[in-house]
Amino acid sequence: MEEFNIPKSHPRYKSLLERELIVRGFKEGLVVPQGLIAHGRGEAFDYIIGERTIPEAAHAIDVSVAYLLLAKHPVISVNGNTAALAPREIVDLSKETGAKIEVNLFYRTEERIKKIIEHLKKYGASEVLGEKYIEGVPGLESERRKVDPEGIYKADVVLVMLEDGDRTEFLKSMGKTVIAIDLNPFSRTAKMASVTIMDNVTRALPLMVERAREMKAWGKEELGKLTSEYNNSVKLSQYVEYIMKRLSEEAERLRE
Ligand code: ATP
Ligand code: MG
Repeated sequence: MEEFNIPKSHPRYKSLLERELIVRGFKEGLVVPQGLIAHGRGEAFDYIIGERTIPEAAHAIDVSVAYLLLAKHPVISVNGNTAALAPREIVDLSKETGAKIEVNLFYRTEERIKKIIEHLKKYGASEVLGEKYIEGVPGLESERRKVDPEGIYKADVVLVMLEDGDRTEFLKSMGKTVIAIDLNPFSRTAKMASVTIMDNVTRALPLMVERAREMKAWGKEELGKLTSEYNNSVKLSQYVEYIMKRLSEEAERLRE
């Protein structure tokens, strides 16, 4: 990624690279200005957790992959930020789990939908849903109510990222399992989801691809054990405890 001219030795290389990807996505019309703000909120939480995948999140990743592999109609819901940050990983995860990809936008324009679809196709996606839609999420007033009848509408398991809590709630009330990747464990999305992965999409998605490659060989029973033993409220409490521990350790260091 020399094109961005960030020295590899820079201590914040990865974070700077992600900013460049988001800014490029913005210039290309994939990302909306509000997406830049959402990214910043994510960065703040990422800093607090140490910009790494914590063990509790790695476990949530396994549970999520199990859900995707067991699903009849899994769908990965993609927005501008995620398409700009991790297009290849989205396509790879779709291939490894058999999940469909659907573009679903809070700030929906038909032009942006088309651009994101084209972008994902450049990274190897054979089919990307999102253009054709029905108003398929009853009660939801935002543009996110527009879903493909063969995609999110029909899905039993939906993976969402940088999501608003509202749609998560409605998708849940439609009986779907919702997996959310969200760095903010206090967000409504994180609280409403069936499984919350508190991690950056740029780390969580490649890990999900890796785990899907391994877990594909597992039996249904083994996968089902992971999902049936899972409790998201317990998971969220572990995330918050992790943050508290990190903050107290930091305070301690400052006092030394
Ligand atoms: P709600 O509380 O309803 O969920 P929200 O304010 O969280 O609303 P958005 O602003 O749409 O809704 O969500 C953006 C969320 O995505 C934020 O919680 C932010 O922490 C998270 N986020 C931003 N960038 C990333 C990223 N790269 N990886 C994972 N999560 C991210
Ligand atoms: Mg949210």
